[in-house]
Amino acid sequence: MQNMPARGILVAALLSIPAFSQPNSLIYEGARLIIGDGSAPIENGAFVVLNGRIAAIGPKGAMQAPARATRVDLAGKTVMSTLNNIHVHMGYEGYVSWSVQNHTAENVLDHLEREAFYGIGTAMAMGEQPTDFAIEFQQNQLAGKFPPAARFFFAAGMAPPGGGPDALLIQGTSPLHAVYEVSTPDEAVTAVRKIAAKNIKELKFWVDNRDNSRGSMKKMPPEVYTALIAEGHKHGMIVHAHATNLGDQKGVVKAGVDVLVHTLMAEKVDDEFIAILKARKPYWTPVMGLGDRSELCDGDNGFIEQVLPSSVIADIKAGKTWLPSPPCSAPASAQFLQREENLRYNFPKYIAAGARIVLGTDAGVSAKYSFGFAEHHEIGMYVRLGLTPAEALIASTSRPTEVLRIKDTGVLAKGKRADFIVLNANPLENIRNTREIDSVYLAGVRLDREALETKFKQAKVGP
Ligand SMILES: [Zn+2]
Repeated sequence: MQNMPARGILVAALLSIPAFSQPNSLIYEGARLIIGDGSAPIENGAFVVLNGRIAAIGPKGAMQAPARATRVDLAGKTVMSTLNNIHVHMGYEGYVSWSVQNHTAENVLDHLEREAFYGIGTAMAMGEQPTDFAIEFQQNQLAGKFPPAARFFFAAGMAPPGGGPDALLIQGTSPLHAVYEVSTPDEAVTAVRKIAAKNIKELKFWVDNRDNSRGSMKKMPPEVYTALIAEGHKHGMIVHAHATNLGDQKGVVKAGVDVLVHTLMAEKVDDEFIAILKARKPYWTPVMGLGDRSELCDGDNGFIEQVLPSSVIADIKAGKTWLPSPPCSAPASAQFLQREENLRYNFPKYIAAGARIVLGTDAGVSAKYSFGFAEHHEIGMYVRLGLTPAEALIASTSRPTEVLRIKDTGVLAKGKRADFIVLNANPLENIRNTREIDSVYLAGVRLDREALETKFKQAKVGP
């Protein structure tokens, strides 16, 4: 029962609406409303926002507006829920630098503002935050101490000693002791209990030993992650697994992991794995776009450039990124072409077997695939690889709330927070239209995107 007070605080905080929400009721009229649960959109709809929440929603004219409600004409626009991202790495990226020194509350907030700028309402840091820092940051945000930004969520991280985060990320997580290191089932169970005692309900573990370049480092064996998953579930946790080869993906899904992260790098799925996916139907966060050529290499890229200082844009094009990536001038490698072929083969098979795709980007390790714009690229990939736009939007709005275990956002419905994006074009017709952002509202408050853009473009560049 020692967890009770903390849990009480958390529930109260999640139910509250931040202090920056507006007290007057507004009625937004005339837009196409994409509800976000797969139901048909409401053409020429209307919704009332009161105290940061949707108080009523339906066809325009069929709804009674409250007396003295301010009317906002959205004729010709499309409105959808803000996006929710369950896989990012926050705090270490500083535009042109990447270091543990960057990891401050101010920088985490900057990353959440960059997410919000692009219409993301919540973002979950996946295993790279020191847990006490993350708890304090979350409490401060819920208490209304920060300006409007995406809501911060986080998962505790666990890995074999010296393993886990990639060669770049580990330079931040190691000095901060952000990742719990475990070698045996007993150590895993003990670590899960420590995390549970902090009332943390999300847990991510890395199976990989990466490239065996870190001395005696070993991969996390099945008996360790089996114990880890079982203990996590005893404490009501959602467990995410980073696994990038067929054997490991089979193992973690069979062991009951809730969220499978990543795609197979160099293999194709087989019948055994399809059967395991069919039996378990895990959530799946493929985080594919980080391996793609930057959109900055292609002609029209104002959508991305609007948040990056010009020197950063030049560095990305030249391949001067912290996580090594080829310059725009490099031809596609054989490895890249193989990966593309595997994605085209594997992705539809995961989906057909029942893997439930959930938006995640892995933003935070490379400027070329960073906070906010990466989401729109990733969603485009879902459609390119076989989802319908409506399915891609569900994967990016409502389904992530199942993993985050929040019920107050992700669809346009009465009682939900008024977290929505106003678009100039319909993403159900062309998924690229999620980029046609007119405005973003968080808890009913219109985000000042112009001020944010100025701040991002003027970010201090250089060591
Ligand atoms: Zn990641």
